[in-house]
Amino acid sequence: MSSTTKINVPDIFASMVFNDDVMRERLPKDVYKSLRKTIDNGKDLDITVANAVANAMKDWAIEKGATHYTHWFQPMTGITAEKHDSFISPTADGRIIMEFSGKELIKGEPDASSFPSGGLRATFEARGYTAWDPTSYAFIKDHSLYIPTAFCSYGGEVLDKKTPLLRSMEALSAQAVRILRLFGDSTTKRVITTVGPEQEYFLVDKKLYDERPDLIYTGRTLFGARAPKGQELEDHYFGAIKPRIAAFMQELDEELWKLGVLAKTKHNEVAPAQHELAPIFSTTNVATDHNQLTMETMKNVALRHGLVCLLHEKPFAGVNGSGKHNNWSLSTDTGKNLFEPGKLPQENAQFLLFLAAVIKGVDEYQDLLRVSVASAGNDHRLGANEAPPAIISIFLGDELTAILHAIETGTVYGGTLRVNMEIGVNVLPSFTKDTTDRNRTSPFAFTGNKFEFRSLGSQLNIACPNIMLNTIIADELEQFADELEGKSDDFMSALNALIKRVIKEHKRIIFNGDGYADAWKVEAARRGLTNLPTTVDALPHYTDEKNVKLFAKHKIYTEVEMQSRQDIILETYAKTINIEALTASDMVKRDILPAVSSYVAELASGVATKKAISDDIPCEAELDIIKRLSGLQDCAYKKLAALDNAIIGVKEVGEDPIEVATYYKDSVITAMTELRAVVDEMETLVSSDYWPYPSYGDLMFRV
Ligand code: ADP
Ligand code: MG
Repeated sequence: MSSTTKINVPDIFASMVFNDDVMRERLPKDVYKSLRKTIDNGKDLDITVANAVANAMKDWAIEKGATHYTHWFQPMTGITAEKHDSFISPTADGRIIMEFSGKELIKGEPDASSFPSGGLRATFEARGYTAWDPTSYAFIKDHSLYIPTAFCSYGGEVLDKKTPLLRSMEALSAQAVRILRLFGDSTTKRVITTVGPEQEYFLVDKKLYDERPDLIYTGRTLFGARAPKGQELEDHYFGAIKPRIAAFMQELDEELWKLGVLAKTKHNEVAPAQHELAPIFSTTNVATDHNQLTMETMKNVALRHGLVCLLHEKPFAGVNGSGKHNNWSLSTDTGKNLFEPGKLPQENAQFLLFLAAVIKGVDEYQDLLRVSVASAGNDHRLGANEAPPAIISIFLGDELTAILHAIETGTVYGGTLRVNMEIGVNVLPSFTKDTTDRNRTSPFAFTGNKFEFRSLGSQLNIACPNIMLNTIIADELEQFADELEGKSDDFMSALNALIKRVIKEHKRIIFNGDGYADAWKVEAARRGLTNLPTTVDALPHYTDEKNVKLFAKHKIYTEVEMQSRQDIILETYAKTINIEALTASDMVKRDILPAVSSYVAELASGVATKKAISDDIPCEAELDIIKRLSGLQDCAYKKLAALDNAIIGVKEVGEDPIEVATYYKDSVITAMTELRAVVDEMETLVSSDYWPYPSYGDLMFRV
């Protein structure tokens, strides 16, 4: 599309989505009503209703050019899975008609034996099934009708990310509604968790990408000397967007809008070639589906522009990697944000109780939140002064922290207003978003009316952290409701006591300072906060007793399901590092060392030629480079042998996923890092004509 073509955004928005509008228009009234009940209240769908819905969906999809349908699900790999069936059905006279039944809509049976299940599903009983999630609308993409589904085994074990996410949303809703009742709200039926995930990504030229095996196989560069310029001038963040990138962004937005994704903000990010897209927030379930769609669409649209979208957490050493900020809040079914402090004492009191739930929950389950964002890629970022530290803490801003202090100690709040903070009586001094949003180093920041969980890696399926968050907060709210229910006579003093106690016992989790500073590590340790620097440190805590209890109590996961998830994440970690190690070894053996040899030979023959002419011609430069490169080459060769040994050495480690992952972290990553250091130094000495790969400068600045 040319840059001057005008598009009508309201017209194209959700044009490929079977949403409420389309349903209302195309379904018989009674069918629409039953479906709406299912969507709003989780009522089971009757098969006759399902048949009617399926038929309407099919007709609509065919009009939009669809020939197939697919149950779209999110197995434990975290990426989406799809298998397409056409609508065709043969007739007796040799023709075909287009058919789609209610049964096909509601339930699918993919042969799922090749998805990781962490031992939950033996291959002989491979047939898991997918079940329609009517709370996330069906949509059309690439001539297929996509039906968002949950994925389970026949034994009922959860095999995906969506089922636990939906369960966690239900658990949280039930407990939050109990809390609202305590404050006299008798009408809210459901509380919804809302999420707006800000997505970072890199774009590189496809031709250059194709020349880098590391990008192709691992999504990140395993070698690469620093370019003369990085991000030090801070000239990329929010900088003018290059025309080629702008064209990509424009088409990306259009594609996303057609799918009903509320793509809102686009800008250049900190690192060269890095960008961000933020949508307007929506229900967590939909936000999760839409974020998966966004990542996929980014990759597809990039290819149409001769670009490749890198979603890896750390494509390049030496400049920032990519993350995803999970903006999270709670809202009533009528759209009232429960983390909005409000203007009346009653609203303030309710806000403070929800805030207390977050403070207590994040403190008690620091480990789970850390686990929820753990991956090999994200290990490069957390704690590397470009992303929050691995230590989980909450940023509240000075004003809110001072208010909590005043509440805890029963003293006068010394802010602008100087008030005695008695909950339910006094009005909270208003604190602006500006004062709460400045600190970008905090993993979990209150930003005025929502929390921003900033530790997520860019590739992560956001279901995981949100399952954790929702379940943790559901549990805290349940404890609060248990404590406060039946205290209606003296509700305010019970509430006061509870909030004071929570602040006293859990204020250690609040930290408004610089999360990048080394001093924070020391201070956090003094406070007894958990510091789990890597995936391998974090994951074993997934199945700690308190965590197993939490998920079992709220019927999100059984212990077996948790163990399987822990194993899968650790195995994925080990496999990821193994692929990186094999790729690195291959690149050095087959491309880099031969290139260095050729260049050294070229220099050497140059020296010989000069000498043949005359002994007087100086060759110091060549000789020096020959010497240095030859030394580095020998060194690289030794480091390569060490890496190859480390790769083979895993055979001695046994089967335990924790031990295997630990081995990769300690032995293989170390060997790779040492090899890289030598290779990167050689790159700075070898002629660019000889170096087999595009440089960091090419990749980051030639887009
Ligand atoms: P920034 O963090 O860059 O200052 P904003 O605060 O405006 O930007 O919003 C960032 C993201 O937070 C957006 O995706 C926005 O839709 C989302 N967001 C805003 N309000 C809420 C909410 N109540 N619940 C969840 N996400 C929200
Ligand atoms: Mg933000």
